Amino acid sequence: PLDPSRIVAPDFDGYPERFERSAASAWVEPKLVLEGARGCWWGEKHHCTFCGLNGSFMTFRSKSPERFHEELVTLAGRHRMLDVYLVDNILDMEYLRTLLPWIADSGHDFRIQCEIKSNMRYEQLRELVRAGVVQVQPGIENLSSRVLDIMKKGVGGCQNVRMLRDARSLGLTVMWNFLYGFPGEKEEDYLPLLDQFPALAHLPPMDGASRIALERFSPYFNVPELGFPERSPDEQYAITYDLPPEELAELAYLFETPPAGIGGQVERELLHAVGEWSRAHSRSWLKYVDSGEEIVVLGDRPGFPETELVLTGSFETELFRTLARPRSADYLRRRFGQDAKLATKLDEWAASGLVFTESGEYVHVVAEDNNQELLQLR
Ligand code: SF4
Repeated sequence: PLDPSRIVAPDFDGYPERFERSAASAWVEPKLVLEGARGCWWGEKHHCTFCGLNGSFMTFRSKSPERFHEELVTLAGRHRMLDVYLVDNILDMEYLRTLLPWIADSGHDFRIQCEIKSNMRYEQLRELVRAGVVQVQPGIENLSSRVLDIMKKGVGGCQNVRMLRDARSLGLTVMWNFLYGFPGEKEEDYLPLLDQFPALAHLPPMDGASRIALERFSPYFNVPELGFPERSPDEQYAITYDLPPEELAELAYLFETPPAGIGGQVERELLHAVGEWSRAHSRSWLKYVDSGEEIVVLGDRPGFPETELVLTGSFETELFRTLARPRSADYLRRRFGQDAKLATKLDEWAASGLVFTESGEYVHVVAEDNNQELLQLR
């Protein structure tokens, strides 16, 4: 792979002027499209089974923070553009200690979009926000731990919900797609999720749900035994190129396969529930204020009575704070004892949509009060 120090900076000379004269300038803002890194540090260890993004060079390599900072500030100044789109498949975590604080402390008013891993902690997300990151793509993909495990994503369903909640608290826009159709996934992986989607209506909804495509360079492509032995080039290639099928199979990136995983009624229910989440989102809110003594939870979501709760006493308030992170039932029993009281409270909070539960873990879904409701209009 090319050493990152030898990756040249993009040349935008003439682009802003041409953009200004184009019809597109009436409805979109031009962006600086920049690249800090290539490859994927997660994929180096555990290649997500569906991902073909990095071709044959998964090795993660990034520009030095000094070099990338210089590139960013110089190009923004030269072209008078503050909207920045980072094309990196995944953010260099080292940038959290270097590039991002430098940008934050410099006072530049950037609006940055980037891709991250969905297990980033609240404090790390806050550092992104401080630097001007307004939109993230965290690769959430699904909310079932078993399905996430099948795709080797390295996160669980509750962690993904926590990401959506923390992004909501911090005013970050989240782009994500719900992926399904993984070999080995089952109806039982989805039904408990669908029941809980209405409780998540105030959190950033997915842009859509789709069956995974077979991508060249992905483990599913390279190892047919993983579940996709039959494949043929996606139909778009025959429309674009007048070539025999054998040659199309050599150049195609996307392939059609017989469907794997769920289908039929549960697939229809999933697509319906995804649409409902999206439709309910702009009318939904759920937030809390923690005064130390008590925690006030307020909200309104279709499918639930208006929420107006005051959590008091050390058991309730500590349990709520503990559920800021995904916790297993075992952990909670060890921490709080009181088996019956704990089980009753968790059931009560799950029924009233304050808690998401999946694969034996629990996490609360209530965002911090940040007075950002109008930003959730889509
Ligand atoms: S899906 Fe994202 S995290 Fe997974 S290997 Fe591909 S680029 Fe890396």
